[in-house]
Amino acid sequence: MKKILSILMVLLGISLVGCSKNKTEKIEVNAYSDSSGYISQTTRAIEGKNGFYFISTKFGKSYIEYMDPNYDEVHILCSKINCEHLSHEGVILDDCDANIGSVLYNSLNYFENYLYYIGRDSASYLCSLYKVSSDGSEHIKVCDLGITPDESNIYFSYVVTDNYIFYTQSIGSENVKNDASLIKVDIKDRSKEVLYHYEDMYAALFDLKISNNHLFFRKSSNNNLQYSQLCKFRLADRKVDSIVDNICSYTIKADKLTYWKVEDGIYVSDIDGNNKSKIFISDKNTMLGNIANMGENYYFENIANTSFDATSENISGELIQDKLQSIIQLKQEEQMILPLYVARDRVLVEVWKKGGGHYKGYYKIQEGILDNNVVIVDCIK
Ligand SMILES: [Zn+2]
Repeated sequence: MKKILSILMVLLGISLVGCSKNKTEKIEVNAYSDSSGYISQTTRAIEGKNGFYFISTKFGKSYIEYMDPNYDEVHILCSKINCEHLSHEGVILDDCDANIGSVLYNSLNYFENYLYYIGRDSASYLCSLYKVSSDGSEHIKVCDLGITPDESNIYFSYVVTDNYIFYTQSIGSENVKNDASLIKVDIKDRSKEVLYHYEDMYAALFDLKISNNHLFFRKSSNNNLQYSQLCKFRLADRKVDSIVDNICSYTIKADKLTYWKVEDGIYVSDIDGNNKSKIFISDKNTMLGNIANMGENYYFENIANTSFDATSENISGELIQDKLQSIIQLKQEEQMILPLYVARDRVLVEVWKKGGGHYKGYYKIQEGILDNNVVIVDCIK
């Protein structure tokens, strides 16, 4: 199977080179969102210019909430005077600014004063990318993406730049061949172009990120997502490079790549995978290992309770270890804390109480160190 797969990859590689010869137009990306605080591949909490945003869902209807950076308060993102926002049951009202209806779970993004999310029409099942101004008043449909069988956010990943949206689309199922694609949308005329595609059994292109005019994504077959291959698509000449195999997560900061190799450990390298150094040994099951970075610091999360050993001090080793232990302690007897996003001065979390109840919250980061105590924040209407 592996042989067939590698032959397929070679064939695709050849056809792509052939394709790029005809396409000499260079893609100018200009400004783009290079936030890298995603703890998992996608998120429902994010940092904006003036504060933090969450998507909350009740009875299938979603709405946006805003957390002020200076006060421990979460507000419904609505600019309408005299709006009640929520019904008595806590369901968002149709005409409230914060209402975004039916959405793909964890599809939040932020770019230049707009929040982005993927909405899904509950009648046609068509998913579309939307943007909402950071005060909640302006709602704009950016482009249609495609039809999905449900509302989980495994089908698309996307990045926003000032001229283009780039997204991956993988709608596969067991034992069936499908085509996974990397697509460019021109924001001006909404035209679409497939930049790269990959066909196989349950083929997936996912976890799209952008850095220095390179698109990075993970590629897998047979629903083997945690043993994915990291690929780099060069916008300048439209060529795809394979960087490393068998990774469960990665993050990029400028020209530095950090990736987690399953049952091996965490490495830092240049963006081509060269000059690598191993910063952690982790030879157990790391299926759910996640890496985020903010500033000079890295944050690791591993839901499968793996143990770790630092092997190098080249990147603030003591901080990595401290943060790692902090995140492992997130599951306590009386509450479970889910880390969602690493922002500049805090890690945004959700707190689920054992007896019921669900709150927004954060861990403060001071001089690179996570505070031990979570701050739980209630919603104020
Ligand atoms: Zn409202």
